[in-house]
Amino acid sequence: MNKKIRFFQSIHFKIALVFILLLLVTVEIIGAYFVRSLESQNIETFKTSINIDPYLQEKLASDLMSANTEAANSSMKTTISQADVANTATVIVVDAKGTVRANSNVNNQNDVGQKSSSSNVKSVLYNGQLFEGYEYGASTGSQYTKVIPIKNPNATGDGNAVVGAVAITASMESVYANINKIVKIFLIASLVAGLLGTLISIVISRAITRPIDEMKKQAIRMARGDYSGQVRIYGQDELGQLAVAVNNLSVRVEEAQEASEAERRRLDSVLAHMTDGVIATDRRGNVIIINETALDFLNTRNEDVIGVSILKLLTIDKDYTLRDLLENQKELLLDFSEQLDHELILRVDFSLIQRETGFISGLVAVLHDVTEQQKNERERREFVSNVSHELRTPLTSMRSYIEALTDGAWQDPEIAPQFLKVTQEETDRMIRMINDLLSLSRMDSGTSKIELEYVNLNEFFNYILDRFDMMLKTDNEHASADNNTHKSGLLPGAEKKHYTIRREITKRDLWVEIDQDKFMQVIDNIMNNAIKYSPDGGVITARLLETHNHVILSVSDQGLGIPRKDINKVFDRFYRVDKARSRQQGGTGLGLAISKEVVEALGGRIWVDSQENKGSTFYISLPYATITDAGGDWDEA
Ligand code: ADP
Repeated sequence: MNKKIRFFQSIHFKIALVFILLLLVTVEIIGAYFVRSLESQNIETFKTSINIDPYLQEKLASDLMSANTEAANSSMKTTISQADVANTATVIVVDAKGTVRANSNVNNQNDVGQKSSSSNVKSVLYNGQLFEGYEYGASTGSQYTKVIPIKNPNATGDGNAVVGAVAITASMESVYANINKIVKIFLIASLVAGLLGTLISIVISRAITRPIDEMKKQAIRMARGDYSGQVRIYGQDELGQLAVAVNNLSVRVEEAQEASEAERRRLDSVLAHMTDGVIATDRRGNVIIINETALDFLNTRNEDVIGVSILKLLTIDKDYTLRDLLENQKELLLDFSEQLDHELILRVDFSLIQRETGFISGLVAVLHDVTEQQKNERERREFVSNVSHELRTPLTSMRSYIEALTDGAWQDPEIAPQFLKVTQEETDRMIRMINDLLSLSRMDSGTSKIELEYVNLNEFFNYILDRFDMMLKTDNEHASADNNTHKSGLLPGAEKKHYTIRREITKRDLWVEIDQDKFMQVIDNIMNNAIKYSPDGGVITARLLETHNHVILSVSDQGLGIPRKDINKVFDRFYRVDKARSRQQGGTGLGLAISKEVVEALGGRIWVDSQENKGSTFYISLPYATITDAGGDWDEA
């Protein structure tokens, strides 16, 4: 762009050339006209100067008519010497017969008395008309000849009035020399004018082109983004005003540039801090802007996606065309879980970038992470289907027993009580499940209130374990009295098992803020599970210890353990490692889910460590701060 301009192409040269040519043309035209008119003027003047006054002509006429030739000749010689003609001219007087009577040329006096040889003289004598003519002789140069007829002033009519003629021959060299001199002066003058004009035009065109050149340089600097320079102002003329305008323009462009830069930075920072991904494309659908969030979502880099088609980037090029997106501006739900190594579902909203004229200049896609939402939705659907399934199982089993009873089994004293017991157990299980579901739903909705109080966890844990020890001693009747809650710690439907509870519990009092009822339910549930999923005669170890800011409570069993793949799922609702076994044990699959909700509501954490076929350990940690005083008072109160 910034190509060097060759001198012959420059305005500087062109202006100078135009000036010089104009000057030359003008000078030449004026000169030619001037020389021409001067020439004709000079020749005219010369011609009129070659003449014989009328009174001299009369005198010559009377001499020519005189009989005394000698006297007449000398009189005529005097007369022609008196004639006011150019001194270089030769004047010859010829009489009517063509004889030379007088000659002004002193060297040619021999001619006098001879016949004139000039044909011009003869014809003038013959027809009495004035003759004018030019001739050119090698020795004489350009000559002018005028032959004037001399007539008898007294003659009447056209009769032979011509008594003679005067032939005047004059050299025109002096006239032409004069003209040549003038032409020479003129040429020199025009040469000087041309030189001066060239000089002046160079100076003037320099004066014009210098500001233009400076403005050009400033424009180039501006194009490069350098607005620091200012064009010098040489005067108040149009170029001066243009320079002022260029300077103003430079300031304006800089301001506009800064404003748009600031705008761009603002946009960048807005885009960078958005939690939604944003992709903008040109009208061909190629990415021009993409923010960090979108790059993170798609696990790619800016330089890899700029200029790439958005359809390819979102891997929807097989299902959609750009036209589909432009026309429908659909909202799409795209699952990237397969492409990436983690779960990601994005909702993509498309909108058009449109100018006021309606021209579509691009497309904006906003990427919203809906993975969690979708997961929740899926979990909700699974939950509903689980609940329905869980309730259907006991109901179908009950129906078959009731059908059998109706079909006559009620009369069988052996079978009837057994069947009725099963239906009762199933009913109990359903009630338990519904109670569990209700407490879960209360916790989900936040309607279940946690009633916190400081409890000595040491004492509390021992109390619960005492109850389990007691259970071993008491008989079955006791157990069936309140088997519909976990709180009882009883195992409905399970055969009586033998187990030993070993306690490894700190002696220190540990005052922890808990909701007694709910926390008891948690421990009952874990203890019940330990018993349920342990072989007969197993040892259950209950531990309680403190760290500097937590209490950790754990229950270990020697049961069948939990497979590694299920270990994180046992806290999910309705999740059971072995469905049939759990159901047979009267389990609902909700116990650990409730426990988790309760422990988390108390600000704690629950987790499990297990080895298949060796046993499991469930841990609960609760936040704990040492209370130095008033602990006892609280307990008493
Ligand atoms: P359930 O009513 O089925 O016991 P839970 O929520 O209490 O429901 O437990 C969920 C599942 O976790 C159980 O079905 C069982 O498979 C597994 N589980 C819980 N505790 C133990 C344990 N101590 N030993 C082995 N598996 C256990």
